[in-house]
Amino acid sequence: MPVNPEHKLAAEDNNMSREPFKLAGTSVNPGETRLISIPAARLYTDTPVDLPVEIIHSRRPGPVLLVCAAIHGDEINGIEICRRIVGKRLLQRLKGTLLIVPIVNMFGFLQQSRYLPDRRDLNRCFPGSPRGPLGNRLAHLIHTELLNQCTHVIDLHTGAIHRKNLPQVRGDLDDPVALGMAEAFGTPVIMDAKVRDGSLRAAASELGIPAILYEAGEALRFDESSIRAGLRGILAVMRHLGMLAPSKSNNTPRKLVPVKASRSYWLRAERDGIVITKIKLGQRVKEGQLLANLASPFGGPEKPLKSRSDGIVIAASQIPLVNEGEALFHIAEFSTLRKASDSVEAFQEHFENETEQENFKEPL
Ligand SMILES: [Zn+2]
Repeated sequence: MPVNPEHKLAAEDNNMSREPFKLAGTSVNPGETRLISIPAARLYTDTPVDLPVEIIHSRRPGPVLLVCAAIHGDEINGIEICRRIVGKRLLQRLKGTLLIVPIVNMFGFLQQSRYLPDRRDLNRCFPGSPRGPLGNRLAHLIHTELLNQCTHVIDLHTGAIHRKNLPQVRGDLDDPVALGMAEAFGTPVIMDAKVRDGSLRAAASELGIPAILYEAGEALRFDESSIRAGLRGILAVMRHLGMLAPSKSNNTPRKLVPVKASRSYWLRAERDGIVITKIKLGQRVKEGQLLANLASPFGGPEKPLKSRSDGIVIAASQIPLVNEGEALFHIAEFSTLRKASDSVEAFQEHFENETEQENFKEPL
């Protein structure tokens, strides 16, 4: 009699003995999903503040993937991406362990701020220390409890306040594992970014753990296409790492292929005033092309801001007010600009026109 593959798999699952996953003194048994709140600090009111971690510990062995968001407390897109991952039916067939931390910097999140209450950047406090300011202690907690236990990291970010990023993945692309994750994520642009001292990614790198950053949308906003692309990207990386079975449906456009930028730079305002923007995020621009005019609210001559090279606008200021020296447009250059521009176009067409129903055609 032929064996039903589902039953065969279930039998294999039961026979496989796997250690429980331990976090902050709590055990999660194989096949269990648990939300564990790690006591982290206290508010001025003496109210305890926890770091909640959703753990899905499969019966089947595999990578331990940490997906975290809002290490900059106002970068909330990633929180919504995490919310959409938790509870997906697809995760019933998970291999390995998935750790989801939707809000890493809960103090910044409460204040709708990028920073901690003492204005430190939590993403510059790693690996941290059990002593010293709040940032050091939080970083130390995340380092010892989470980073030390995982094998791969996806860290979700957005642009800073009033700056919007075209969805892009950054990482150390000289590391073949990080490169594989970045390509699997499926954004049109990927960027080789060396680690910054004190960042979560630097701490992961010290431990030999490949980590990628997803940068999409802007702070304090939910950007639907960035959220959908982020959700799809994480599931694609999980498939790439063998944590999920390959997808049966492939409705990704043929021209949507990640293209590595060869270089990037910010164009800054050369005067104070208001900004009359002439281009859109994701647009392909030519050397010398007018990107914006900088003007006084009282009229008079305008100062043109032009691109220094051919490239694609991968981030843009969203507020039309500027002081001299402030960054306005992030331009990425490519050795295959046409391919990159086609990929951005395919991405925008796919994710911006996609309906909710289409997006969830596959059993997420
Ligand atoms: Zn950030």
